[in-house]
Amino acid sequence: MSLTATYDSQNIFAQIIRGDAPCYKLYEDDDVLAFLDVFPQSYGHTLVIPKRSAACNILDVDTEALCKMAAAVQKLTQVIVAELQPDGVQVAQFNGAPAGQTVFHIHMHIVPRYAGEGLGVHAAGKADPAELERLQARLLKRLAA
Ligand code: 5GP
Repeated sequence: MSLTATYDSQNIFAQIIRGDAPCYKLYEDDDVLAFLDVFPQSYGHTLVIPKRSAACNILDVDTEALCKMAAAVQKLTQVIVAELQPDGVQVAQFNGAPAGQTVFHIHMHIVPRYAGEGLGVHAAGKADPAELERLQARLLKRLAA
């Protein structure tokens, strides 16, 4: 999809925001939703999305929504690092299919990195639901602490 494509309200993240599709939710407020990636590239791979902005990418998102998403990314990254103790963490954001974007509702990735472990293939290989549930419980507990 091009950088200037029209926003499709049927995309999977729009469905998740509306509650029409499930997610392993970690955090939600009026502006932002964070949940586990179900095709994780590493243990703890998390996505953060703005809820109110019908934006495909960084070009069309409003600045306030972008800032609120970034603030949530920092908070979630701190929690994920505290709980999972990775050796590094990637924060990424892709715009347009040639840049690796596959879901066209703007989002940011938090991808913990562990020494000696390669990165999983992007948007491939669905995680075990039971493992995602355990991870969600772990991170929710840390978030509440
Ligand atoms: P993008 O490629 O657009 O930067 O990232 C989209 C991300 O959404 C990918 O990492 C992919 O694994 C993830 N993803 C795709 N479909 C779903 C879904 O139904 N639920 C969740 N939680 N993540 C999804």
